[in-house]
Amino acid sequence: MTADTRPGLTERLAAGPLICAEGYLFELERRGYLQAGAFVPEVVLDHPEQVTALHQEFVHAGSDVVEAFTYYAHREKLRILGKEDLLEPMNRQALQLARQVADEHGALLAGDVCNTNVFDPADPGTHDEVRTMFEEQVGWAVEEGADFVIGETFRYLGEAEIALEVIRQAELPAVITLVVDHDDVMRDGGSLPEAAKGLAGGGADVVGLNCSRGPATMLPLLEAVVSAVDVPVAALPVPYRTTAEQPTFQSLRDPAWEDFPDGRPFPTALDPFTCNRYEIAEFTVAAAAAGVSYLGLCCGAAPHHIRSMAEALGRTPPASRYSADMSRHAYFGTDPTLAAHNRAYRERL
Ligand SMILES: [Zn+2]
Repeated sequence: MTADTRPGLTERLAAGPLICAEGYLFELERRGYLQAGAFVPEVVLDHPEQVTALHQEFVHAGSDVVEAFTYYAHREKLRILGKEDLLEPMNRQALQLARQVADEHGALLAGDVCNTNVFDPADPGTHDEVRTMFEEQVGWAVEEGADFVIGETFRYLGEAEIALEVIRQAELPAVITLVVDHDDVMRDGGSLPEAAKGLAGGGADVVGLNCSRGPATMLPLLEAVVSAVDVPVAALPVPYRTTAEQPTFQSLRDPAWEDFPDGRPFPTALDPFTCNRYEIAEFTVAAAAAGVSYLGLCCGAAPHHIRSMAEALGRTPPASRYSADMSRHAYFGTDPTLAAHNRAYRERL
């Protein structure tokens, strides 16, 4: 299938749920190719083969979308690093790497813009600056052949609205996902369902939530968003065991360990809170039942989580060939040819 005959975002969503794997920053940080803190995807230039490999792993596991790794590859982040000269090469390379994998597997290529950390609702001057930042990134996404553009992790509705306008002006479908933290409201004041409704009314093709909250604390917010809009709704939590008291991954505290270099598990010591694949399957089923049709995971996600999500939707991605089958395990298995003395020993393991 060529990019021209491949069904687009809207057609795919009309046919059933769609999976979009995110979480490249955290996975490549764990693998030793990206620095926590600034979280800038220099890896696309320094080690492009690692980015390609992760794109392939996520598609192998069931992602329908290859998201170009341009998250935080924006002018403000590169200014902090003193590397604004890398802005365009980094964006173009990220898009080309993603496009190659998308074309190889018939997946959709998504461009990506995100929170700028510049937007100030009280300062209209920053709104122009933000618009210019989005225009340059979305322009490169158009030129490199993106099928749609994701605008993500917006805590300010005002900033999300600018991203949406820029993507619409580029005549590409727009997926806009918002973040809420401790409180269920946008930082500029409105409720989440109102914000989602406004974005859908403004022409977003998909609206929803990503990042910050885990499955347990994102799920209760979804029905109200689904009810508020007449477009497909997205939910991409972080795969961590957040709670009512600690609803975000930044707020998690570890009762078993105190000696964190940064005073808290976020972002480099979240391992003990990681959801297992069965919790992700449970979230997937519950979110789909709530009416969510654009599903995925954000920071912390690994390919086994995405496979679990795909299987929960009744799919068998290529990685399902290796899904667990314990029947032939030496101790816990049920195969009659397994040694009886080992099977008898299982409770002593
Ligand atoms: Zn995230």
